Amino acid sequence: MSDAIAMRLGLLIVVSGPSGTGKTTLCRRACEQGGAVFSISCTTRAPRPGEQHGVDYFFLTEEDFVARVDRGEFFEYARVHNRWYGTLKSTVHEQLRAGVDVFLDIDVQGAAQVRGCEDDLVGRCYTDIFVMPPSLQELRARLEGRGTDQAEEVERRLAHAAAEMQHWSDYRFCLRSSSRQEDAARFAAILQAERLRSSLIL
Ligand code: 5GP
Repeated sequence: MSDAIAMRLGLLIVVSGPSGTGKTTLCRRACEQGGAVFSISCTTRAPRPGEQHGVDYFFLTEEDFVARVDRGEFFEYARVHNRWYGTLKSTVHEQLRAGVDVFLDIDVQGAAQVRGCEDDLVGRCYTDIFVMPPSLQELRARLEGRGTDQAEEVERRLAHAAAEMQHWSDYRFCLRSSSRQEDAARFAAILQAERLRSSLIL
């Protein structure tokens, strides 16, 4: 810490957990407080009603996605629920160097890729949180309640959730979801502490 005003790197916060745990909302709300950005992923799944290209996701065709994989444009990517999802390299490093925290809402395979990458900057900035549903019954109720997925898709997501939940202990933090208010308070507490990490100070 060479100066009275210490500059810091941004925190790279990977958030995983089954669809329906509210993890995307937690990340987006945290970004609204400022100083952080939500990384907009690419996907080959179809937009849900109300979702916008460039806001929720970059919705790509399979051909476009695969061409970008071949050109090495992805920081990480994975096949999830039978579709491609990936984070583009372009912005992550710039934001971290500029002291902006970056949220990645990605699945357990993508998290393993980022966690295992040998990039020094990523190693210094990395933290991760697994958001655990209270139970599979409650997760089913939430997925059915949000009404954005067909019954078949809900079943696919529930089957996938059980497999994803096996990975909770790979993460530094595990947040068991309860009420929205409680989840937001715990999420904020994790962020508050992680932002003070000495590895971020320049
Ligand atoms: P959904 O279709 O519900 O928006 O997302 C399905 C799953 O894909 C979620 O678990 C979400 O975290 C994950 N996901 C979203 N974007 C990415 C990404 O860029 N990379 C990876 N590996 N997973 C992603």
